[in-house]
Amino acid sequence: MTTTIIDGLYYANKIINEIKTKVDKLKIKPKLVVILVGNDNASQIYVNNKQKRCLEVGIMSEVLHFDENINQTELLDIIKQLNEDTEVNAILVQMPLPKHINPDKIVEAISPVKDVDGFHPYNVGKLALNMTPYSIACTPSGILKLLNAYNIKINGKHVVIIGRSNIVGRPLMSLLLNNNATVTVCHSKTENLKEITNTADILISAVGKSNFINSAFVKHNVCIIDVGINRDKNNKITGDVDFNDIFDKCSFITPVPKGVGPMTIAMLLQNTLNLYDIQNKK
Ligand code: NAD
Repeated sequence: MTTTIIDGLYYANKIINEIKTKVDKLKIKPKLVVILVGNDNASQIYVNNKQKRCLEVGIMSEVLHFDENINQTELLDIIKQLNEDTEVNAILVQMPLPKHINPDKIVEAISPVKDVDGFHPYNVGKLALNMTPYSIACTPSGILKLLNAYNIKINGKHVVIIGRSNIVGRPLMSLLLNNNATVTVCHSKTENLKEITNTADILISAVGKSNFINSAFVKHNVCIIDVGINRDKNNKITGDVDFNDIFDKCSFITPVPKGVGPMTIAMLLQNTLNLYDIQNKK
């Protein structure tokens, strides 16, 4: 049996190039506004990266950076202004927020039609009901694109997702169910995890722990999607999966880096363009 390494970087670049071609033809460019609160190092890196990629494809990107002492009411007012600003097509609030701000209230304040992350309850609800949301969370959409790009059969297959976060596990569950998978979602309270993962045709890990999944967790021929982005003891970026240990047992596997990560950013650009299109059709 041969194992195919899923090239997320290749497909992300392909999508990004397609977006660039479309944006080049637009007289008025789409605009994404990113709200960053406080000085969390990782968040700043993510935000800079998002801005850089937007500029590369011609999407206008503005970062509104606020002191960590900004209060919730002030932040809600800013979101209200952005919702009303016709030049702004997409709004992203970088998480995590300082403890005195309720992230649910902030997510709910964003207009669903400008919700580029697909986190608003309106969009999450539409996805769960297999209706058409304005946007779908970026990491799950990126994973679906990769499965489709490699013609990996989803219909009727048992997909086991480890992790039930609002940004990965839950929207992914809905998206794959809508694509006719039989979906099992596991989490930190799941009993007999290994027995469940051993029945997976596709195993998707979004736990956040290096080397959490090894060959004992899977059956032969499994497709592995590794969402984790972690640092090992040598500060090297790793996924959740022990790649070398599991490799020979898989039919497909995403590497970390260059697997799911680049697709997430490509989907952010795609969502921005989609929201622009929706707003300009009204
Ligand atoms: P999270 O901390 O919100 O969720 C982790 C999930 O793992 C939880 O649902 C928890 O129940 C589950 N879990 C923890 N320990 C477990 C155990 N022992 N057994 C079974 N389940 C367990 O994290 P998140 O935001 O969903 O992110 C998960 C990982 O994915 C992180 O490494 C994060 O950096 C990465 N991530 C990557 C991308 C990407 O684009 N590649 C995007 C988002 C998140």
